[in-house]
Amino acid sequence: MSEAAVKTRHPKGLWVLFGTEMWERFNFYGMRAILTLFLVNSLMMKEEDASLIYGGFLGLCYLTPMLGGFVADRFFGNRNCILLGGLMMAIGQFLLFASASVFGTNISLATTLMWSALGIIIFGNGFFKPNISSMVGSLYPKQEKSKLDTAFTIFYMGINLGAFLGQLICPIVGDVKDDAGIRDIHAFKWGFLAASIAMLIGTAVFYVLKNKYVVTPDGKPLGGLPSKNDASDFEEGESQKAVFSQKALIIAGIMFLTLGAIIHFVFDQNLIYTLIYSSGLTLAGLIVSDTSLTKIERDRIFVIYIVAFFIIFFWAAFEQAGSSLTFIADNQTDRNFFGWNMPPSMVQIFNGLFVVAFAIPFSMLWDYLRSKDREPISPMKQAFGLALIALSYFIIAHNVKDLGNSGLLAIKWLILLYLIQTAAELCLSPIGLSLVGKLSPKRFSSLLYGVFFLSNASGYALAGTLGSIMPATGDKFIKAKELGIDLQGILDKTVTPTAEQLKLLATNQISDHNPVFAGFEIHNLFEFFMVFVILTGLAAIILFALTPFLKKMMHGIR
Ligand code: GLN
Repeated sequence: MSEAAVKTRHPKGLWVLFGTEMWERFNFYGMRAILTLFLVNSLMMKEEDASLIYGGFLGLCYLTPMLGGFVADRFFGNRNCILLGGLMMAIGQFLLFASASVFGTNISLATTLMWSALGIIIFGNGFFKPNISSMVGSLYPKQEKSKLDTAFTIFYMGINLGAFLGQLICPIVGDVKDDAGIRDIHAFKWGFLAASIAMLIGTAVFYVLKNKYVVTPDGKPLGGLPSKNDASDFEEGESQKAVFSQKALIIAGIMFLTLGAIIHFVFDQNLIYTLIYSSGLTLAGLIVSDTSLTKIERDRIFVIYIVAFFIIFFWAAFEQAGSSLTFIADNQTDRNFFGWNMPPSMVQIFNGLFVVAFAIPFSMLWDYLRSKDREPISPMKQAFGLALIALSYFIIAHNVKDLGNSGLLAIKWLILLYLIQTAAELCLSPIGLSLVGKLSPKRFSSLLYGVFFLSNASGYALAGTLGSIMPATGDKFIKAKELGIDLQGILDKTVTPTAEQLKLLATNQISDHNPVFAGFEIHNLFEFFMVFVILTGLAAIILFALTPFLKKMMHGIR
């Protein structure tokens, strides 16, 4: 083999991790496609509540990786945690399958099964996700770390290939409507079963191939039990673990409770959202309070924090995909796609598809700009990401403006939205992951990844809150009309509903008032989307303005 081929060749283990993660993301994103529709249509929840559950669930999925990383480092090792997490997620999906099988006869059992399933998936994801990502990094010896950016780009494609397949298969089998547009609310179970099978395949792939391929270049196993890990010479010499004094930990405990009380009682957030927000802030505070940090290290950590803060708004806007955007695709969209009526939950597929298509061109673009010495620094790329997501919502806001409560949005606008959001994601998400790696002092690296994931988690929690302020979509007006109720009049407060009408609306999961956000009433979808334009647009402008300062604080890192 030529020298150039050796230089660019990636270890076979990368493809094992690629395949494992692909099946796992199939399971995760396939379920995400149909989850909120299942909650609303089968478990009879209001869209507002489904959005809040969805945000809390996703947020917790990004809180538990802290635990999964810790357990792997101290006790079980990466490999066991991946297997355990994979099995837990497969069981969780199977419980969703059970829930979706029994809801017709026993809704309370179905609801209990659903909660247990989400709980198990949250912990399964926590064991799986951080460990598979960190194994990608450890496949490469010190002298080959320069291949990491490409390795992560390949891995990111595996993630999205899985997301694409999951969002294709689960909606086809699980989100079924007849020719008259009536949904088969008993079909969701097949989507969850497909997700469960995908996760079992992923776990089996990893179980069978790990010993042969997930190894160091000289064949030593990677990610075994921490006590037996003889691959330590493979890591860089420097101390890997942060050690905090007892005093610092006690102060952090007090801070966690105080912040929690403020977030819960003053900002009126539910307990799950409170847990996510206050864990992130406390961990961030604990790390910078460490007295061993030098000025340069501390400056760089602050850059991570500032970027992590802005990223919250990105994920809050991006993660409307599984809730409000899916409800809109379901209720107020003409989904005719080249003559085929696409299932509403499948519309999110365009994100995964576009990532697979554009991940490599984007990394080539950065390489090209770097060769011309014109590559923007990472926070600048992230500000672009925020600006692009603001643009995507601006375009959609203008397209829903004149729909009223009965017009349909053309599917092409949602496809365009996902195209722009994917470009935004590629400016921000992989770049963020590698920025944390570059800026973190080695001993705090995994904890800083923890802070970074907690900012993702906070973004998801905020996504839940924002999704829940979606105003009534077309289907609600049609249903109200069938019931002989003037919903628009009630929402505009020009008609006073009778007690009987209020009851009818409630049993049909229709709200009798417009949602309110930060003191503003949201009257229609235009105003709803403009909330995202303003939040992410402002975030983009402020981050752009901050980049010269951030550049200084990064001390030579880009
Ligand atoms: N879509 C990516 C994944 O599933 C990134 C998600 C994130 O970082 N919040 O891994």
